[in-house]
This record gives sequence, C-alpha cells and structure tokens, in this order.
Amino acid sequence: MSTIVGIDLGTTNSLVAYMDGKEPKVIADREGRTLVPSVISVDDQSWIVGEQARQRLITHPKTTVYSVKRLMGKGLADVGEECKYFPVFLSEKQPGVIQVEMGKYRLTPPELSALILKEVKQRAEEFLGSAVTQAVVTVPAYFNDSQRQATKDAGRIAGLDVLRIVNEPTAACLAYGLQKKKQGVIAVYDLGGGTFDISILKVKEGIFEVLSTNGNTHLGGDDLDQRLMEWVLREIEQEFGLDLQKNAESIQQIRLEVEKAKRRLSGEDLTEIVIPIKTGAVYRRPLKRVELESLVNDLIDLTIGPCRQALGDAHLSPQDIDEVVLVGGSTRMPLVRRTVQEIFHQEPHCEINPDEVVALGAAVQADILAGGIQNMLLLDVTPLSLGIETMGGGMSVLIPRNSTLPTNAKELFTTFADGQRSVDIHVYQGERELVKDNRSLSKFQFRDLDPLPAGMPRIEVNFTIDANGILQVGAKDLRSGKEQSVEVKPSYGLSDEDVTRMIEESFTFAKSDMDARSLIEARNEAATILRHTERALKQGEPLIEPEERNRIQEQITALKKAMEGDNHRLIREWIDQLDKATIHLAERLMDSTLQIGLKDKKLSELP
Ligand code: AMP
Repeated sequence: MSTIVGIDLGTTNSLVAYMDGKEPKVIADREGRTLVPSVISVDDQSWIVGEQARQRLITHPKTTVYSVKRLMGKGLADVGEECKYFPVFLSEKQPGVIQVEMGKYRLTPPELSALILKEVKQRAEEFLGSAVTQAVVTVPAYFNDSQRQATKDAGRIAGLDVLRIVNEPTAACLAYGLQKKKQGVIAVYDLGGGTFDISILKVKEGIFEVLSTNGNTHLGGDDLDQRLMEWVLREIEQEFGLDLQKNAESIQQIRLEVEKAKRRLSGEDLTEIVIPIKTGAVYRRPLKRVELESLVNDLIDLTIGPCRQALGDAHLSPQDIDEVVLVGGSTRMPLVRRTVQEIFHQEPHCEINPDEVVALGAAVQADILAGGIQNMLLLDVTPLSLGIETMGGGMSVLIPRNSTLPTNAKELFTTFADGQRSVDIHVYQGERELVKDNRSLSKFQFRDLDPLPAGMPRIEVNFTIDANGILQVGAKDLRSGKEQSVEVKPSYGLSDEDVTRMIEESFTFAKSDMDARSLIEARNEAATILRHTERALKQGEPLIEPEERNRIQEQITALKKAMEGDNHRLIREWIDQLDKATIHLAERLMDSTLQIGLKDKKLSELP
C-alpha cells in the first residue's frame, strides 16, 4: 500500500512528512535538509524549485518567485500593497485569478504551487522508494474557500490526490497531542511567513475539537521584512542619494539581508546590516533588537485582536487556556513570545520544532485517514461564515463561522416574477453585513423552472462545507421532486477544464523538467568530485608518476568540458572515468597519510 504523506505547503518553506511506525517524521534530502524553500525559478529550459531557486532570487529576480502562497485563490484586487516589491510582474488571467509573469511563461499560483508539491512529492518518492499519489496538505486555518480550492487544484496539477486539507494550527495540535500527550484546552498561535492563525482546541481522550479559529491571511514574517526593507531603502536614499525602489536586484538583496538580520535578532541583542551597493559603496547599519521591535511592534499587535475574538467565540477567557503552543518561524521572535504571554497570561510552549510541527501533524492526519491511528479524531471548524446575497446587497448567513465540519445548511428559494424560468443565487463568505465587503464564492443559476406565478416554485438549495472546508452545492425542485445539478461558477475562477489542461501541460513539461534536473544534479556531482580530485592531486603529487598525474589531468579537463554541455549522461560517464582514474592516487594518499591499506577506494569516498 502506498504511503499517504503529509505536506506543509508553506509561504517560505515546504516540508513533507510520513508516519514511521507510530512516529511522524519529516523527510530530508540527501544533504539532510528538511526544508524546501517555497521558491520557483525558470530558465530557458526548465523549472527550478527549492534551494537552487532561492539562490537565484538576487541573480534572476524577474524569473524567480517566492511567497506564492500569498497569491493563492486571489485576484489582483485582493493582494494590493503586500506585493508592491514582488520582483515578478503580476497580471490577471481572468477576474479573480492572478497570473505570474516569469520570462515567456505565465503561470497561475496553483500551477506554481504544484511545482513545489511535485518537488516534495519526488523527495518523498526517493526516500520511500515507491510512488506517492495521495497526500494531506495543510493550509492556514483562516484560508477561505477560494484559497482552499486553489490548494486542492495545485495538488491535482502535481498529480497528488489531496485526501484532506487540514488547518495548520490543528495539524500542529495533532502533532503535540500525539507526541506530548497534551490534554485540555489548547491555543495554537501560528505566525509564519505570510499568514497568522489562532485556533483554540479542546483535546480530550483522542478527540481534537476545534472550538474557534481566527486570523489574518495578510500578516506574517514577510510583512516585517517589508517594513525593515522600506526603512533601509529610506536610509540608503538619505545617505547615498540613491533611490533603489525600482531596482529589482537591489530590492531582493536588501530583502534577504534584512530577513537574515531579523532572524539574528531573535537570538542576539545587536546585529549589523551590511549591504554592498552597486556604486561600490557599502551600507552598514548596526541594528538593536529594541529598534527592530519598535519598527514592527504594531504589526505584531495585529495578532491580539484575532486572539481575543477566538477566545470570545469559544466563550473562554485567557485563564481557561491550559496550554499555548507556538507554530511558525516568526514565533521565534522574543517580541512575539512576550505578546503571546500578555494575551494568554502564560508562557507559551515550543518543544517541537516550529518549522516542522505542521508537517508532522499532517502526517498524523494522513495516518488517521489510512486507518493506522484509530484512537484520534479531528473535529475542525469553518473559519468564516457562509451566506447568500439578499435583496439590497445584504448578507444572510446560512452557516456561521466556527461551525464544526462537515456541516450543511438548506435554504428555500422562489421566484419574484410570474413565469420566471430561472433563479440566480450568489454565495459569499465573510463576516461583514453587506456582501460587497465579503468574498464572492460562487454564483449559480437554477434553470428550466416551469413557468409558474411568482412565489410558487420552491427550490431547496443544500450547501455543504466538507471536511476540507470547501463548499459543495446541491439543489432540488420541491414541487417536482427533481434534483437539479446547479452550475456553480466559482468566483475564484479556475474551472475544471483549466485544471485538466494544466495537468496535461505539466506532463508535457515533465520530460524536459526531468532532463534539466538530471543535468543540474550531474553538474553538482561533477563539481564535488573535481574539488576532491584537485585537492588530492595537489597533496599526492609526490606519490605518483608524472604519467599518472597527466592522465588524471586529462580526465579533469574532459569532465570540465562535458560540464559546459547539457548532456547529463556524458557528464556521468566522465565522472565514472575520473573516479576510476583516481583509485590508485587515493590508495597512495591513504597509505601515506593514514598508514592503512584501503583498497579500491575512490577519491569521492575519502573523508
Ligand atoms: P514559516 O512560514 O513557518 O516557515 O515561517 C517563516 C517565517 O519565519 C519567515 O518570515 C522567516 O523570516 C521567519 N523566521 C524564521 N526563523 C526566524 C527567527 N529565528 N526569528 C524571526 N523570524 C524567523
């Protein structure tokens, strides 16, 4: 049976985890890295994802994109200021669907997220040694229906059946529940790179019941970085008279530097920001933790309101909370920890690595779905109210926020005019009184009604929010008893045909993507063996004959030449040749330095 993996598709980093017997574990790459930076870049030939893409942020800002999660399920109007410094150009494919322009490619956020999912899928497949086709993927609890739909679409495009979408704080709580056996009322405070979530859960005898959730999908470490970056940009302008706002490379460089400084200040009281400027000058600025704190204090304070609201919705006061658990990289900041302590009047817990805890929880949920763990049950809630538009643009709530999932509601509709043949229904999500202030989820039409006097038809529309928090709609004409399928036009915009086309396109790209990946891997391996060989040749020169030295030198030149080309097989052949040609040299080195006869060792196997 193939493993169902748990995936944390993060704003900054993504991770994949699986259940190793009774324990969830995060899967690392060959170098032992567990985090896959959620960064995507493209060159002439292929897509580059993860660490290598991250390294291209400064060198190729126009074709490298990060924080795609902030764009999921959104239209241009939804993103506004937060993408002001995005290096790539954003346009709209259709109303409600952003497309990211990267060189000659135009991709939607679900397609970009699919590239990250494919990367983690492949990592899991390599590790587990079998195909991975099913996953549990986490999303911020406060993601609306469109953002959840977009996440599911990303899974489909990546060839993954997303069996369940789980809220990140809930997943974190599952991991804590399993590993630390926590019981009682738990508040999970989750501040990551792009989003903030607060969830309050009751954990008792294996049942994880979410009592309330709240948050802000526009608030995270990225915003702190932007604040710091704007401050540095102003200082550079004052000090050097340079306006770097439109310079994409400089913007990325400053963003990365201030982010690193911010991290350092979680452990130190003082750091220095050093940014070389193109003119040859260098911007240097000591930065104290207290200065950083006063720059971003108001942003961290934005988490207080949602926490109070979540407590209120659960009818609890801070004293009723037994434990506070921290999740997300930004909770490493002392200012955040102090703020949490002030809100909940207690020290928060962070025993499990805040970067990994969500993926671990997703793996736990995957195991529950696979039938492995049988004594745990998760009862999640919908973060936002679901309603329909009434006459005059009001919002009539059918399913209030924090209803336990899955949940449903029915509503009767009728006609306003004699002989009316169809009824339009417009569904919204949000907490405001007027639909114009909430998010339009879908519009649909109930058609082919018999031409009856106004008010006579009785159409029952059934709204269900499934366990993933995604809306499904069914409708029935109560007069005729006929069920009618309603044509739901999701306002988020990607239709089933769009997604199918994207899946097909991703297959077309798959071959060239794989070739490009093999090329990158072969080049990296070649660079490593070249480094080893050149060092060994220097050390071992007196130990071998000049002919042997020349032979090795020739192989080195041949391998370097092959690396300039794009044939990964050829590179591998020359790696093998060089490996063989250096066996003797390796032996001599070993003999002379360690005095132990290690036969048939290749240079690449030397310490
Ligand atoms: P996540 O989305 O949970 O991976 O969180 C990523 C965010 O956490 C990014 O904005 C990082 O800059 C931030 N972060 C990671 N480590 C630290 C740290 N030590 N101090 C402050 N922020 C951090």
